[in-house]
Amino acid sequence: MAIDSHKIIHAIVEGSKIRDEKGIIPMFGVYLSVYFTSYYNIISFDFLSKMGKRRALEAEKLLIHAAQECGYTTFHGIRRSWEWEELVQPMLETIDDQIQGFLSVATAFGWGGEMEVIELIPGNRLHFRVYESYESAGYLKRRGIAGSGKCFMLRGVAAAFMDLIYGDAYPDGCFTFSAAEPFCRAKGDTFCEFIAEKSSP
Ligand SMILES: [Zn+2]
Repeated sequence: MAIDSHKIIHAIVEGSKIRDEKGIIPMFGVYLSVYFTSYYNIISFDFLSKMGKRRALEAEKLLIHAAQECGYTTFHGIRRSWEWEELVQPMLETIDDQIQGFLSVATAFGWGGEMEVIELIPGNRLHFRVYESYESAGYLKRRGIAGSGKCFMLRGVAAAFMDLIYGDAYPDGCFTFSAAEPFCRAKGDTFCEFIAEKSSP
């Protein structure tokens, strides 16, 4: 069965209307809540500014690593949940199909308007495209055109998806892969693209 992204997205968007008294969305057995993307953008882009030009690369690396660890843990929880079992698992024909399942969940979470796999070489390389990523939209709105990619969260998450499927068993597979962002809307490109490959030793 092909992955029905619309079905996954619709189910999550509907399910996320339920909140507990603390605002937590009781889905996927992990902590989910509604969050202003502008708030997260302010924190991460102001963090970059505070670190200064000299430490810019170090700051970007920290943001990407934080996202990769978070993505690794969160999506591990998600794929072990009964919601995944009920909604996504029946559509998966191969282990590799999990990538499309993860991207559909990430779209439903609001991390990008649409996500499309360009190429997946199982165990080696994932290349996907994201339209309207919230980080690029936020960067453009607040700071204008950037000189380099600004979607640190999606960069970390791209690598985390590969870590979960092709890295060592949880929790030992994190950082097996790392991702680059050759195209980013924040740089003036039409979309953002991410390429996750094995990290160099
Ligand atoms: Zn981007």
